[in-house]
Amino acid sequence: MCGIVAYIGEREAFPIIMKGLQRLEYRGYDSAGIALLNGDMTVYKKKGKVKELLDFARDKKTSGSIGMGHTRWATHGVPNDVNAHPHLSGDGRLSIIHNGIIENYNSLKAALVKLGHEFTSDTDTEVLIHLIEEAQRHDNLPIEEAVRVALTKVVGAYAIVVLDQDAPDRVVAARKGSPLVIGLGENEFFMASDASPLVEYTKEVIYLNDEEIAVIKRNGDLQIKTIDNKIQSPFIEKIDLKIERLEKGDFDSFMLKEIFEQPRTIQDCMRGRLSSKEGWVKVGGLEQVVDRVSAAQRFIIAACGTSWHAGLIGEYLFEELARIPVEVEYASELRYRNPIINETDVIIALSQSGETADTLAALETAKEKKALIYGVVNVVGSSIARVTDSGSYIHAGPEIGVASTKAFTGQVTLLTLMAIHLGYSKGTIPRSYYLQLLEELEQIPHKIEKILAKDKQIEAIASEIKDATNALYLGRGYNFPVALEGALKLKEISYIHAEGYPAAEMKHGPIALIDENMPVIVIATNKSAYEKIFSNVQEVKARKGKVIAIVSEGDKEIKAIADYCIEIPDTDEPLTPLLSVIPLQLLSYHIAIMRGCNVDQPRNLAKSVTVE
Ligand code: GLU
Repeated sequence: MCGIVAYIGEREAFPIIMKGLQRLEYRGYDSAGIALLNGDMTVYKKKGKVKELLDFARDKKTSGSIGMGHTRWATHGVPNDVNAHPHLSGDGRLSIIHNGIIENYNSLKAALVKLGHEFTSDTDTEVLIHLIEEAQRHDNLPIEEAVRVALTKVVGAYAIVVLDQDAPDRVVAARKGSPLVIGLGENEFFMASDASPLVEYTKEVIYLNDEEIAVIKRNGDLQIKTIDNKIQSPFIEKIDLKIERLEKGDFDSFMLKEIFEQPRTIQDCMRGRLSSKEGWVKVGGLEQVVDRVSAAQRFIIAACGTSWHAGLIGEYLFEELARIPVEVEYASELRYRNPIINETDVIIALSQSGETADTLAALETAKEKKALIYGVVNVVGSSIARVTDSGSYIHAGPEIGVASTKAFTGQVTLLTLMAIHLGYSKGTIPRSYYLQLLEELEQIPHKIEKILAKDKQIEAIASEIKDATNALYLGRGYNFPVALEGALKLKEISYIHAEGYPAAEMKHGPIALIDENMPVIVIATNKSAYEKIFSNVQEVKARKGKVIAIVSEGDKEIKAIADYCIEIPDTDEPLTPLLSVIPLQLLSYHIAIMRGCNVDQPRNLAKSVTVE
């Protein structure tokens, strides 16, 4: 979480940094700040969005060709002007921006207080800049060396950038556990939490590795060292990211744009990976490790949030099509419960950003136990992509809306491709069904377009239930994780309390909540359990619940008793989630807009959860 941008070069840093912060605002938006070196150290900080910082600084001194900015997602200390970054050393000559958590900040702070340091904020970050100041002052060290020495004393995760007023020709950056990318321009450098602020200036980047420190000088000198003082040779990579993908275009929000992009993003995910005509499916990363994966005793899917729901769909897919036992784990639980993992297991890590701290840590645990690690991520070059044994990108393009939509369907598409591939190669599905699934999968983007065309109808239904305080989502089989995802989307962006349940479980508790005020969204496209889910709808109606049913085109029975029905195209059951989730995304979107919520930046949330 939190976005970091820094610049050193010949241009004015302020506009570059502010624009970069706006690109990174999806990572955190409770406060923002900037520091510029211009003879002095000029620092502005403001609670709220980047726009508020921009308005605040507009008529003030903003000169300087070295600077850095931060958009915060608070972990330590409430969001206010004082806790916003950058933080200053006691003498005000050093400043820092930080993404992550300094876990031992309390003991460091106590020791620093004894040495006479005074603190103005409640953050862990301020402790780090005082620690650097102490190292610098004590041994009269250059700033980069003081940063290195201080970091040897730190426990936790960080991406930091540090400026020193007495070294106005350099920027020092370091990372451990939180991402940091350096962009290389002509006589200029950019640093950021991800590549989005850099793309309009350069395509050449260096991804800093864990425990590395970069010292970047205005004369073009760039040096990378490890925290234990070994010089590293920088590895320059080319990025392929188009600016249009970072803009809203004609849409009012990133979320809506991303929902509507799904026919294309799913196409992009499948591109070069299947042909129903020629009867093949291949997933590059899988080919490299196919023997180990096919022989796996068990898959463990590790993920958080929406990715965890995609993982649950993966469980249904792999078990049904490839007959591989699957466990789906919250990464945060997996890592702390001494799990039984062995060499014959395959761990599949699902993460949009590829930076999710808990998922990354769970992978380290699994790696120690010698399991094969397979990553399914969206952001190219991200940390998870780099630590896995093999993996696949979902190619959804930048997802900026905080509530995940196209990354979810990208993950499900990729898991579907893997399951079909493994099912066929292991002989657990016959060729005829294999070909049918491939053909159906190729139709999915077109079928999603048909659902998106019902946007107005979905908006009208949203207006009927927008004032609810609770909602229940029910589904069976493949549609059970979709129910969870639908409920999560509603909670995230409209702040309506919602729960997803397997439809039959309703009788074991949630049915007590149903009355005429309770919208119940039933995903009832299943062929195999249609009668069962029909009965569940009856049960809701018998208690006066308001039923919004997602049904297959041509449905009659449920349609006759539901209050509202959204018909979606038919498909094979394993592919259903790719369609049935779309109306739920739109429903949440419209409800949130009608309630006046900021759908792209819902309160308290941030994209890319890089803290535990
Ligand atoms: N722990 C720091 C704070 O609360 C940084 C949080 C972040 O990554 O935004 O200020």
